[in-house]
Amino acid sequence: MENFDFGIIGGGPAGYSAGMFLAKQGKSVVLFEKDCLGGTCLNRGCIPTKSLLHSSQLFAETKKLEEFGIKVSTEEFDFSKIIEKKDKTVEKIRKSLELAVKNSGVKIIYNEACIKNNTTILAGDNEYNVDKIILATGSRPRQIKGLEFDNEFTLNSDDLLKLKKLPKSILIVGSGAIGIEWARIFSNFGVEVTIVELAEHLIPLADIDISKRIERILKQKKITFFLKTSIEKIENKIVTLSNGEIITPDFVLVAAGREAYTQNMECECTLGDACNQIQLAHFAISQAKALALGLPFNKDLVPSIIYGEPEIAWVGIQEKDCDENCKSTLLPITALGKSWCDDSTDGFIKVITKDDKICGASIISKEASSLIHILLVAIKEKLSIDEMKSICFAHPTYAEGIFDILMNIK
Ligand SMILES: Cc1cc2nc3c(=O)[nH]c(=O)nc-3n(C[C@H](O)[C@H](O)[C@H](O)COP(=O)(O)OP(=O)(O)OC[C@H]3O[C@@H](n4cnc5c(N)ncnc54)[C@H](O)[C@@H]3O)c2cc1C
Repeated sequence: MENFDFGIIGGGPAGYSAGMFLAKQGKSVVLFEKDCLGGTCLNRGCIPTKSLLHSSQLFAETKKLEEFGIKVSTEEFDFSKIIEKKDKTVEKIRKSLELAVKNSGVKIIYNEACIKNNTTILAGDNEYNVDKIILATGSRPRQIKGLEFDNEFTLNSDDLLKLKKLPKSILIVGSGAIGIEWARIFSNFGVEVTIVELAEHLIPLADIDISKRIERILKQKKITFFLKTSIEKIENKIVTLSNGEIITPDFVLVAAGREAYTQNMECECTLGDACNQIQLAHFAISQAKALALGLPFNKDLVPSIIYGEPEIAWVGIQEKDCDENCKSTLLPITALGKSWCDDSTDGFIKVITKDDKICGASIISKEASSLIHILLVAIKEKLSIDEMKSICFAHPTYAEGIFDILMNIK
């Protein structure tokens, strides 16, 4: 039987990061993956959706080209080529990842694994003796009662990635990150999109101003949505909503969250989505960093991002968490010259401050996914507003909006 310091079950961001970080610390590591290295993130989540989103945005933006003085006739797209491009991107990243993991000294076993006891992992006919086990088996789409996946009409996000052609219409249940990103992908390609959300506003986890603004933006894009609404029943592909509306979409995407996929395995050390805490790749990676390198990790400062045009990002406290000592200041993106150059003026930067420090930020703007990190560093390092103001922000950029908003704080 082979012996290792660590045995890790699951080769997604949690598992492969922990493996590589531990190997760098001189530990011997065996990593078990039953499917493809990279997990949900690389194969069915973050990466393939962003590739499709980018293609769909490029297509949507062709409608703006003439306004910018560019003449090309691009009224069509080839969906099979779009899928091919997405697959090539995933494959390229997977190959580099495989190389990086192997080069770090981690032994990869491509097989389903289970925990036999505290120090033994079983994979196929082989047993592996390990000092410590890490469970990083990820999550799977959550099923809702009455809306079980049949993988033909009632789909989850994994099913969507297998589509060979686009539907004419889709009904999306849930308006979290996955629901909104897919709504944007489909809508950019001209698919008729309807969203059903049980909460009072879209993106219920975001700051209320973000929710209201995205509702306005989606309306402009002709995406229909129903709030405080659920699915009453589905019969013969006819969907009846709780508000009495009847919809006949080609597919229903159920994007109502994900659940830990531990396969009844219990382990003292569980990382990533399998923990059922914050189901994001960077949360998983930061947990792995904390475990292997002993670096402190503040779980209250995990940025949330929703991709598309414009991007949405937030971190720290929101309007609903404010007390009487908090100040909320908002800068419209129209204040920034760069936004006019890019014809991307819809959005704002909002910061919540308390005792001369930033404690929360919500952004809806082009490049929000990068901008949020400037505010994240300010929050984490407890920089004062004056310290932030003394930074030289380049012009014309979206980042200079951070300087402008700090100047506006009264
Ligand atoms: C559509 C979609 C879009 C997303 N977009 C983003 C995004 O933009 N940004 C972001 O941060 N997050 C995003 N996520 C979430 C992100 O993918 C997950 O948070 C992340 O993958 C979690 O990493 P993990 O390592 O915990 O689990 P996973 O990535 O799920 O990896 C778990 C791995 O364990 C393997 N495994 C399971 N059981 C066994 C076993 N018994 N033996 C061997 N191997 C096993 C699985 O095959 C899998 O490869 C998205 C998710 C989806 C579905």
